[in-house]
Amino acid sequence: MRKSLNLWLVCPDFMIRVGFTSWLWYCAAIGLLGLFGGRMVIAQDMQKAKAVIDTLCGPGFHGRGFVNEGDRKAARYLRGQFEEIGLLPLGEDYFQTFTLAVNTFPGQVVLQVGKSRLQPGTDFIANAISRGGKGKAQLLPLDTAIFSQPEAQTQFLKQNLKRKALLLPAFAFERMIELPQALIDKIYSCPVVIAQKEQKLVAALSQKALSPPYFEVLQSQLDAILQAQPASKINIKYRLDAQLVPDYETQNVIGYLPGTQAKEQYFVVSAHYDHLGQMGEGVYFPGANDNASGIAMLLELARHYARPENRPPFSLVFMAFSAEEIGLLGSLHYVKNPLFPLEQINFLVNLDLVGTGDEGAMVVNGGVLQEAFERLHRLNETHQYLPKLARRGLAANSDHYFFQEAGFRPFSSTPWGGFRRIMMSLTAPKHFHSLNLRVCLAYYAIL
Ligand SMILES: [Zn+2]
Repeated sequence: MRKSLNLWLVCPDFMIRVGFTSWLWYCAAIGLLGLFGGRMVIAQDMQKAKAVIDTLCGPGFHGRGFVNEGDRKAARYLRGQFEEIGLLPLGEDYFQTFTLAVNTFPGQVVLQVGKSRLQPGTDFIANAISRGGKGKAQLLPLDTAIFSQPEAQTQFLKQNLKRKALLLPAFAFERMIELPQALIDKIYSCPVVIAQKEQKLVAALSQKALSPPYFEVLQSQLDAILQAQPASKINIKYRLDAQLVPDYETQNVIGYLPGTQAKEQYFVVSAHYDHLGQMGEGVYFPGANDNASGIAMLLELARHYARPENRPPFSLVFMAFSAEEIGLLGSLHYVKNPLFPLEQINFLVNLDLVGTGDEGAMVVNGGVLQEAFERLHRLNETHQYLPKLARRGLAANSDHYFFQEAGFRPFSSTPWGGFRRIMMSLTAPKHFHSLNLRVCLAYYAIL
């Protein structure tokens, strides 16, 4: 049976996987705005939002990554939702396909230290750059003097690492970049690397396989074992089945509502639907906050604006991007291959890590687009949507980024006509749990 990872592995500040007090809160907010007209309807919409998150986070979608076609299953589900809502495709289909390279772990992920068989996803993860491999090895703590002493470096370069499992202290990964390349190569010449992690495990994806099997292990899991006997007396068994797929085909899912007056002017709502996928046969990353929540909100917005009485004067495009987690590749592909001229985008709101909203929201790029942020802030002050609205500068931390880059280079000197051309990402990194739908709707309302 598949096991769902504790979310703190990937989203340490998110605790609501299916708790949904936030959804009650945000759907109640919609009701307060009178957008859906009554409590019964609100309850139904909350159920829809919950159903979307539950579905996307379920084992059948495999963490919406590139093992077991999790991304494709999620994309087909979204296409069905778009059709049901009444969105139209911008091209021949809702799908915009592209290929990428991705390192995956589709098979066995096993690590035994001494007599302790560690739990993948809970006690340890495989670093995204790992190649596959299996075997037995003896723990060998890395001599940390190599970070400061040339003699230690020389000594390490001469060391025989055959059948050794190099044990890295928690700080080593961050400081590895300080080492000469020959030492990094030497570390990666070891048959297996065990890196200790002090507090949490954070998974990622990689387009390359650069290292031997490289396990990140919670230090708390190793402490007792290491205290019982010296590391050099501890043997490990490991197996990591890795597959580097050079040309995996994935897809953005894009639909739109034509404007009732200015069809050639576009407002974009974007959110990535992919997450970190599956690690081994039994573990997947559900990614409820990152970013099933953003997709649920995107679909709620689509549902709202698809109703005849709510149809906006200009076209409203909904872009569900793939491959965000591996480097914003879906949105980058879109910006390089737009389905209508990018300069016709008046505004883009990106939804990522929608979270609870209890602590407020962070407006990424709000520090750059100051006028826009001030207007948003005034709206929030007036209507008390969120307890706090913070801003930061442009960051390449989600799918708004390449739109912003494109918007402010080629188009900055172009007259923009009667519409404002602003791109902004509303995301909720660490201390701010997010965008509130009301802010999004209200901001849209004043455009
Ligand atoms: Zn995200």
